[in-house]
Amino acid sequence: MSVTDQRELQYIGGARQSGSGAPLTITAPATGDEIVTGAGANAADVETAVAAAQAAFPGWAGLTPGARSDLMHEWARVLRTRADEFAAVESENAGKPIRLATEFDVPGTIDNTAFFAGAARHLEGKATGEYSGDHTSSIRREPLGVIGSIAPWNYPLQMAAWKILPAVAAGNTVVLKPSELTPLTSLLFAEAATAAGIPPGVINVLTGTGAEAGQPLVEHPAVAMISFTGSTAVGRRVAATAAGAVKRVHLELGGKAPFVVFDDADPEAAARGAVAGALINAGQDCTAATRAYVQRPLFEEFVGRVAELMDQVRLGPVQDPDTDMGSLISRTHRDRVIGMVERARESGAKIVRGGRIPDHTPDAGAYYEPTLITGADQQSEIVQHEIFGPVLVVLPFDTDDEAITLANDTPYGLAASAWSRSVFRTQRAAREIRSGCVWINDHIPIVSEMPHGGFKASGFGKDMSTYAFEEYTNTKHVMSAITPAPHKPWHDVIFRTN
Ligand code: NDP
Repeated sequence: MSVTDQRELQYIGGARQSGSGAPLTITAPATGDEIVTGAGANAADVETAVAAAQAAFPGWAGLTPGARSDLMHEWARVLRTRADEFAAVESENAGKPIRLATEFDVPGTIDNTAFFAGAARHLEGKATGEYSGDHTSSIRREPLGVIGSIAPWNYPLQMAAWKILPAVAAGNTVVLKPSELTPLTSLLFAEAATAAGIPPGVINVLTGTGAEAGQPLVEHPAVAMISFTGSTAVGRRVAATAAGAVKRVHLELGGKAPFVVFDDADPEAAARGAVAGALINAGQDCTAATRAYVQRPLFEEFVGRVAELMDQVRLGPVQDPDTDMGSLISRTHRDRVIGMVERARESGAKIVRGGRIPDHTPDAGAYYEPTLITGADQQSEIVQHEIFGPVLVVLPFDTDDEAITLANDTPYGLAASAWSRSVFRTQRAAREIRSGCVWINDHIPIVSEMPHGGFKASGFGKDMSTYAFEEYTNTKHVMSAITPAPHKPWHDVIFRTN
């Protein structure tokens, strides 16, 4: 049974509203059941939401950092009291196991909210000083205005939080368009902000498709910046549209994380890390371990142990606390994953485990077995392109140089891990792998204090941490003459008088 029956899928100016666009049915991916049907947002709703955000901006930006911080701390408190409800809705709407929602998505979001509540009081800049000798220079760090945020479906609540929190902590207001597939916790997140006392219009949520709601949001002249998380293909389009208006963009795009196991690594730790890193959120994680490169002496042992561990992963109903892995987001997406695995099989790769739809899950769901592949070519689709499913490809390597080269050999650069007991090898990997994060002897953990963001085709700009303020603020230099003298020494360069 559905955990929510709220049919108004827009949140504008502090209240739920119906959209003006085409009908939208939100379904539970694990069962195919309808959760709710409502009207989606279109360009008219974008107008209303942007107007609400514009109206709220002066008041919100004008609060002291301490006042914004207090309201955001209260928001975190409201979230704590509603954690179970958020987890249930997230689990149902995204098809993810309740354990993952309860122990990862929701506490992560609460911690992020509390972190940015504190960080709101710590915007940084250079010390005010007399750098020219004749002037006092100071830095103002100012919010940009209305931020348009666009988020994907894989971690709906966390993505909403990553987009909204640094923006509002810095004094901006936001119009968020979550994925039309998974808007429910974004709506609850905005409602919790209002319940905490954050003024109406500071946070608005538009549920609609990319074409009907996303595109008009990107194009809107009153939107100062677009913060986008999603695929590289759509990110490219968003950036091209924003370029027309010289609008700032922040792009968190796809990933294809390498997982490099040197021959002195702990094989059990590496195998366990690979299974957890590849199967988290059914592999629908932009930092998921997707390409394991294993030094030849450990290769067979690693593949064997990963296969054994994958056999132990329990697929089942998402509300069952014993379920390890849930559904993919949709059957359409599962068809894409199946297509990639089948093309790998046809091109000679070996499917060691999985590669099929499981027998004992609901037909209308979108489950897929944990899948382990060897024998793929480095340049093949399965190694080069994002799968976004529970699929790990393992390839051997011989030398350390080769491992680094292979790890860097895709267009992406979001995350990576290196496994070794040698500090020299791990430090080299940290230095030479081109990605926004390199884990050493682990893969996946994130913390609110540290940045998340890509290199190369994985985009630019940072989510989480105080580095995110670089995206959502403008630095203004204020330079004041320190004497009233009408003749400044530097005038002599231009015109010299007696
Ligand atoms: P998409 O790129 O397909 O969609 C992302 C968002 O963009 C959705 O809300 C979508 O709307 C919207 N959108 C689509 N077209 C347009 C448009 N023309 N203008 C404005 N908005 C548009 O990604 P997915 O939702 O399929 O998510 C998976 C992708 O997200 C993967 O590539 C993954 O790697 C990436 N991702 C990256 C992360 C990172 O931090 N780097 C984190 C998480 C995911 P709708 O779908 O509702 O039509």
